[in-house]
Amino acid sequence: MQYISTRGAAPVLGFDEAMMTGLARDGGLYVPSEIPVMTKAEIAALAGLSYEDVAFRVMRPFIGDAFTDDEFRRLIAQAYAGFGHAARAPLVQLEANHFLLELFHGPTLAFKDFAMQLIGQLFQASLARSGKHVTIVGATSGDTGSAAIEAFRGLTGVDVVILFPHGRVSDVQRRQMTTPSEPNVHALAVDGDFDDCQALVKDMFNDFAFRDAVGLAGVNSINWARVLAQVVYYFSSAVSLGAPHRPVSFTVPTGNFGDVFAGYIARQMGLPIERLVVATNQNDILHRALSSGDYTKDGVKPSISPSMDIQVSSNFERALFDAYGRDGNAVQQLMTELKQGGFRISQGALGMLRETFASGRCSEEETMATIRATYATSGEVLCPHSAVAVKVAADNLGTTPMITLATAHPAKFPDAVEQAMGSRPALPPRMADLFDRPERVTRIGNDLGAIEALIRERTGR
Ligand SMILES: *Cc1c(COP(=O)(O)O)cnc(C)c1O
Repeated sequence: MQYISTRGAAPVLGFDEAMMTGLARDGGLYVPSEIPVMTKAEIAALAGLSYEDVAFRVMRPFIGDAFTDDEFRRLIAQAYAGFGHAARAPLVQLEANHFLLELFHGPTLAFKDFAMQLIGQLFQASLARSGKHVTIVGATSGDTGSAAIEAFRGLTGVDVVILFPHGRVSDVQRRQMTTPSEPNVHALAVDGDFDDCQALVKDMFNDFAFRDAVGLAGVNSINWARVLAQVVYYFSSAVSLGAPHRPVSFTVPTGNFGDVFAGYIARQMGLPIERLVVATNQNDILHRALSSGDYTKDGVKPSISPSMDIQVSSNFERALFDAYGRDGNAVQQLMTELKQGGFRISQGALGMLRETFASGRCSEEETMATIRATYATSGEVLCPHSAVAVKVAADNLGTTPMITLATAHPAKFPDAVEQAMGSRPALPPRMADLFDRPERVTRIGNDLGAIEALIRERTGR
């Protein structure tokens, strides 16, 4: 299996090189050169299998010879062993034709664990073979950083450095990053906001001397291996509702378009998905793009679903690449226009996107009202991100069963949930001592030189 860049001008890579590289050298994103298709019989045969067995069968064609079958099975087993639910991604019913896919039973209580836990294992196995060391550096507004730390803590061949804006992540999110005691974990509280943290990471990647010295690697949501890991739960949930004999639709709360793009890949692989509904909060660039073709940047408005507060949606480039007939030059041109503020999607490309994607937007008030109403009618407590999706799904219900993705546990966003319902959701028992564990964090200024020096010292490079 070969991977090509959406901008058409970077080297073609194998699976593990694409995973280690992250962003392509031409600024594009890696995608498979062709999508393997599963037959109806192969999809039907997934019924009744464990999540891990479904994961093996769905992902195997994408990894080429990067891992042997036995090795890949073992890595999948290790990745999901720390989940708090035997089904890994259980499906619960909300109403007659509406189901909720609970993706928050991983170690940090958000769906990002599905991808991050797996790539932790894949990185470690790949590095053991090459004898190399990498330093993973990432910026986070909360969920990605905690998922990365949880996935890479204690692994060999890897240091993980996470920059978060001091004082601007929730207590649960901060403690998930600062309480792991393994020496390869480095949580840095930066005096600045999330954009400052992101700019610092970008500057580190552009400082080639530093990049090579510490072996910088990225695990942000554009990493192809993360997208791939998320394809699995589209299959496991659709099959449990009768696919391939019966089609399903999905509604996905979206920021960077990574999760919903995984659904698009599942559809390309042959899973009968009628519609993929993109649900945004008040930061609605994707809803505007899919409804009018207008992809224009707008400042970020902070919301109660902060993990979807984005200005531009990085993985959307992968969908545009297909919609423009896999023309890397056309994508390159759109991205140049985006730097100037935005672009208009061509009629042909918009038509292609609309064959698969629908979209909707949910206001802050509607998010609160949905948390309240869903609890009243089903007893399910939603996090604000999942509530955005449940509201948009309700607007798009039809005769095809709808599966809405619940991306975080409500206890990860207790303030918003309390504001909506009047009571505070409790952490699951396995995490109840989070507030008793000692914290370990380095507070540091918004200063590239100081941060690079600290990373060199900590990693001894
Ligand atoms: C990251 C995140 C999202 C958005 O996911 P994308 O892949 O960026 O679209 C939604 N909900 C939660 C809880 C998240 O952490």
